[in-house]
Amino acid sequence: MTTAAIAAAQRADIPDKYKWNLADLYPSEAAWTSAKEALQKRLPELAKHRGHLGKSAKDLLAGLQLMFDLDRDLSRLMVYANSRSDEDVREARPREMKQSAEELATAFSAATSWVRPEILAMDPARVHKLLAEEPKLGPYRVYLEETLRRKAHTLTAAEEKIAAEAGEMERAGGEVHGILSNADLPYPTIKLSTGESVRLDPAAFTLYRQDRDRADRDKVFAAFFGALKTYERTMGATLASAVKAHLFEMRIRHFGTALEAALFSDNIPVAVYKQLLADVHRSLPTLHRYLALRKRMLGLGELRYQDLYVPLVASVDMRFGPDEARAITLEALAPLGAAYTEALGKGFESRWTDYLPSTGKRSGAYSTGVYGVHPFQLLNFNGRYEDLTTLAHESGHSMHTFLSHGAQPYATADYPIFVAEVASTFNENLLIHYMLDHAKDDATRLFLLGTLLDGLRTTLFRQTQFAEFELGFHEQAERGEPLTGENLSKRYLDLTRVYYGHAQKICQVDEVLATEWAYVPHFYYNFYVYQYATSMVASTSLARAVRDEAKAGKTARRDAYLKMLAAGSSKYAIDLLKDAGVDMTTSAPFDSAIAEMNATMDEIERILQHKK
Ligand SMILES: [Zn+2]
Repeated sequence: MTTAAIAAAQRADIPDKYKWNLADLYPSEAAWTSAKEALQKRLPELAKHRGHLGKSAKDLLAGLQLMFDLDRDLSRLMVYANSRSDEDVREARPREMKQSAEELATAFSAATSWVRPEILAMDPARVHKLLAEEPKLGPYRVYLEETLRRKAHTLTAAEEKIAAEAGEMERAGGEVHGILSNADLPYPTIKLSTGESVRLDPAAFTLYRQDRDRADRDKVFAAFFGALKTYERTMGATLASAVKAHLFEMRIRHFGTALEAALFSDNIPVAVYKQLLADVHRSLPTLHRYLALRKRMLGLGELRYQDLYVPLVASVDMRFGPDEARAITLEALAPLGAAYTEALGKGFESRWTDYLPSTGKRSGAYSTGVYGVHPFQLLNFNGRYEDLTTLAHESGHSMHTFLSHGAQPYATADYPIFVAEVASTFNENLLIHYMLDHAKDDATRLFLLGTLLDGLRTTLFRQTQFAEFELGFHEQAERGEPLTGENLSKRYLDLTRVYYGHAQKICQVDEVLATEWAYVPHFYYNFYVYQYATSMVASTSLARAVRDEAKAGKTARRDAYLKMLAAGSSKYAIDLLKDAGVDMTTSAPFDSAIAEMNATMDEIERILQHKK
């Protein structure tokens, strides 16, 4: 398929085989409407169970069964409405459907808001006794134990009500920052050496910091960070306000630190976070080796922070049609075994995927799933290498959904965020190694190795640096020291200089870069970014093991990995990964990811050597 044919403008012109089949959810819009009305009618049934959950195992079962059944039906309604709307966001009718599904979801959560408090009011011994009495409660064990685990951090009903009201105000810092950085900040316009004028908002900055012309890059960094500097005090105040909210939650819910409070909901040990930071510091020599290689490949006399985003290797032109991309993905994932690739192949055939961009379609890519039906994935496939990567990535999420939905009851079919990006980035890793094995020339090989290497650099090091910065300013606030734009910039500059070896003259980090923190929205997400790094660590380590094993004709690691995907949320994230062979409380997975980074650099150096 040619590029022109891929860029079909109108949805109606795209062949069905490249569109997802939403009729698998509801045969018609009318069927959706009657399902929604039926669910609406059933909501009042929930109230009949109120006050009865603790009476007997049968009562507990009846209440939980009803709640989870309605939840399952609701999520099916929502996925249909959202997907219809994403096909063309301009259409009014799907937007209305989406809105009425959201209203129903609000009504559902109001109708079930008493369930957790009622379970919490029970003696844990009583809950365990009921669980032991009634085997049919088995699927709800995780939900019940999860509810009880929160007991020490749950307040009285009246206090919870105040906490919920306060929660509305707690978002102010992030909201003000969002409006300032997305809309109101007067971003500068600069003229590039090509004569082109560009307004440097965050999206344009992300694009133009990759400019091959060094003088242009300098201009881009100076102008963008200069604009941020003007708002350094304001941005400091918005971040300080978000941190105050995190500390408020920490104190009222009786946690020792903000980090502990944030990691509690997924039951991730604080040690995992600290381990990541320690591992990265130990591995800074690998980052410094990367920086030296970058300096050499870009032919620079000295490397500066402004030189970090130019792609290591100029892009080689690789083009793929959707059918070819599917075939390559299936071949690349072969180390996962025939059962995996056959199921995914069937999914491709039976229209899980909405491939092509069209007018009005939502941008980006995602995978979602409906229990009892199948996964759905939305792409905007343009035929470039990164689109192929996206297909492999989203297929990783979809197969995770497929396997866990197939093996788990609804109550444990959803998987935790901490493992979700392992399944997707694992597939990206298999894809890039498959492409490397089949690359016909050094230019392609260098491009792929450069892509792999840059991905590891930004995820392992940059995201962990963010995580360390985030921990640092929370601890500063916990000590009662004020957070200001000025001291946040100083903290950021000092840390960046340690990472990039400024003092050792490995990479120069200028004063002007100190305000980089100010435009990063993730610092408002309450200890979220570290998961980008841990997911990459886990998936790189797992994929290495599975690839090595496949070469030796063995399958033990692969089987353990597939078992983890099928386990949904029947265990905690850390235990799921441990079962798959990666213990995130140790350095072993990180060392394996660093070994991959070093092996990639060995390979690049080997090619550069013989190119001479
Ligand atoms: Zn993803």
